[in-house]
Amino acid sequence: MRIYEYLLGTKSHPTVDMIYKELIGDIPTLSKTTVYNTLNLFVEHEIVSRITIEENETRYDADTAVHGHFKCEKCEKVLDFVTDLSVLEVQDLMNFQINQQHLYFRGICSECLKKTE
Ligand SMILES: [Zn+2]
Ligand SMILES: [Zn+2]
Repeated sequence: MRIYEYLLGTKSHPTVDMIYKELIGDIPTLSKTTVYNTLNLFVEHEIVSRITIEENETRYDADTAVHGHFKCEKCEKVLDFVTDLSVLEVQDLMNFQINQQHLYFRGICSECLKKTE
């Protein structure tokens, strides 16, 4: 439950490691396996989405509404952006059932761009 609360309260799209480090102070009995298994359960019940912008890095998001993700290549932050994917008509998938939609952008965020100016 604490894991879900933590996810709801953060916009940082944390990884298992980040969640573990954040909660170990409060829950000394916590293990990374517990975090991992709990997150899998949430994903199964569709209350948390899994974000895999990077093959070797899985992040989690308690916001399951369809939205896009932008990953900054400098500060490695993952930010949300709102977009209406329903305007995207994909002719090739007309007769398909879509269960998941992911929109990932990569680049450099405005804060990092400011710093390099
Ligand atoms: Zn950045
Ligand atoms: Zn998100």
